[in-house]
Amino acid sequence: MACPTEEPDAVCPTPDAALERLLEGHRRFLAGRPLERDLGAERRAGEAGQRPFAAVLGCIDSRVSPEAIFDQGLGALTVVRVAGNVVNDDGVASLEFACAVVGTSLVVVLGHTGCGAVRGAIDGVELGRLPGLLAKLRPALERAGGGGGEGDREAFLDRATRANVEVGLASLRERSAVLSDLEREGRIRLVGAVYDVMTGALELVG
Ligand SMILES: [Zn+2]
Repeated sequence: MACPTEEPDAVCPTPDAALERLLEGHRRFLAGRPLERDLGAERRAGEAGQRPFAAVLGCIDSRVSPEAIFDQGLGALTVVRVAGNVVNDDGVASLEFACAVVGTSLVVVLGHTGCGAVRGAIDGVELGRLPGLLAKLRPALERAGGGGGEGDREAFLDRATRANVEVGLASLRERSAVLSDLEREGRIRLVGAVYDVMTGALELVG
């Protein structure tokens, strides 16, 4: 790990402290009281290298910017974004790099309400290379238990979104011995969350 244990917690937090720091930032965002940032100072602080305290696997949705909703500045977060926050090999490798090389101690799989990718998977959208990506959401749809009638559509979307976060966490653990070993050793935590694009609220999942 890049972060030796004698580092102060502010620089190299434990997994639990990293989660609390992230949730604190989200509370500031939700309250409309983000920190005043000096981007020049944050840039200069990163001249010697980076030490992000958390990593986020999130969707590409423009409303769900991790730095914004967690009120974090330059150098704080490693962010992997792909439509539907699906787990793929390059994403796994990126998170392995963040945790095992850079020293990040928290990974958040971040889904969100009103996700166009989850909706596209439900609808079986056929466009370009999208079917290949949307196929990765099928296990979540199965876990969510089917769509039911038209009236149930939005409820199913919500269930599938949550299931997709749970599937993502399980997939990271299954596909990455690096991440699952670090988690077993207590050096990192993997947590899931669903962000509500209507209210800005965040719900931890899994
Ligand atoms: Zn989305």
